[in-house]
Amino acid sequence: MKALQYRTIGAPPEVVTVPDPEPGPGQVLLKVTAAGVCHSDIAVMSWPAEAFPYALPLTLGHEGVGTVAALGAGVTGLAEGDAVAVYGPWGCGTCAKCAEGKENYCLRADELGIRPPGLGRPGSMAEYLLVDDPRHLVPLDGLDPVAAVPLTDAGLTPYHAIKRSLAKLVPGSTAVVIGTGGLGHVAIQLLRALTPARVVALDVSEEKLGLARAVGAHEAVLSDARAADAVRALTGGLGAEVVLDFVGAAPTVATAGAVAAVEGDVTLVGIGGGALPVGFGVLPFEVSVTAPYWGSRGELIEVLDLARAGALSVHTETYALDDAPLAYERLHEGKVNGRAVILP
Ligand code: NAD
Ligand code: ZN
Ligand code: ZN
Repeated sequence: MKALQYRTIGAPPEVVTVPDPEPGPGQVLLKVTAAGVCHSDIAVMSWPAEAFPYALPLTLGHEGVGTVAALGAGVTGLAEGDAVAVYGPWGCGTCAKCAEGKENYCLRADELGIRPPGLGRPGSMAEYLLVDDPRHLVPLDGLDPVAAVPLTDAGLTPYHAIKRSLAKLVPGSTAVVIGTGGLGHVAIQLLRALTPARVVALDVSEEKLGLARAVGAHEAVLSDARAADAVRALTGGLGAEVVLDFVGAAPTVATAGAVAAVEGDVTLVGIGGGALPVGFGVLPFEVSVTAPYWGSRGELIEVLDLARAGALSVHTETYALDDAPLAYERLHEGKVNGRAVILP
């Protein structure tokens, strides 16, 4: 089968031919119908050889949907042809976190060498994807594969980040979304669907701010050195109850801290290497700063339910697998508005 692989440190990913995978006992083989392109892959492909945690070559793709192509021995509850989404942050399935469905925070994944598809294990940018256990699959139940695939990360990750702050997003509150790309433009829609908060979007590109407005942001502000003052002015000087940073670089993290209200939540989702110091008098009183990772299995089910209810419209641009390197190039250059999706 064809697969998009990151093969050499520092080189662009390549479309290559690899052996077709076969499901072992307990595993499920999917025919991939769509795979999402996440900015985290760009980060992965920028890591130096000495700090690279995965074996190469690595088949990319940690957002995946597909149809069941074959079942390994002993697998029940699924049938060939079933359309499913893949829950990506695999865990051991039995530790205390996994028992709660929080496999993203599995206590034993590192020790057992368990990795998500596309982030250590062969990923979804291939004609077929091997899934270790049927519990990693959620039925699509009528959702369109292209519209649904970004929800497995670009939907699930902001959903998890927002859900933990819902109690603060009361009427009259403000939520700031920094970086309105793949994750951010879904975050805006989640905030609008789940809360009465006023949503203020920040990005460096007018085109992305246009998308932010189109998907429901009340205000769109250019993300520059004056952005924090602009957001403060929009909130009568009080700041935002919840700030979600989908860039996570030094300047955006600084903005995030500068626009937080007393008792606000600052949630750093982007992995841009920025850090926010916390200490008495450094931030407004009782601001909480956190950096979450992905989301739980139950939350993925909720995100897909929300999509089925018509509350989410993910903006996508699609590419054939042969053109997947171009999708990464465009994402790297900031040219993708919404989410790029590969059709293997
Ligand atoms: P993306 O490229 O689709 O979106 C990033 C957006 O940020 C773009 O619209 C870009 O114009 C904007 N941006 C860049 N610099 C900015 C600045 N200084 N101020 C404001 N906006 C700026 O990326 P994505 O796939 O949505 O991923 C977003 C981030 O989240 C990445 O860092 C990615 O690695 C990370 N991520 C983290 C998790 C997690 O679990 N923590 C999960 C998925 C992705
Ligand atoms: Zn991702
Ligand atoms: Zn576990």
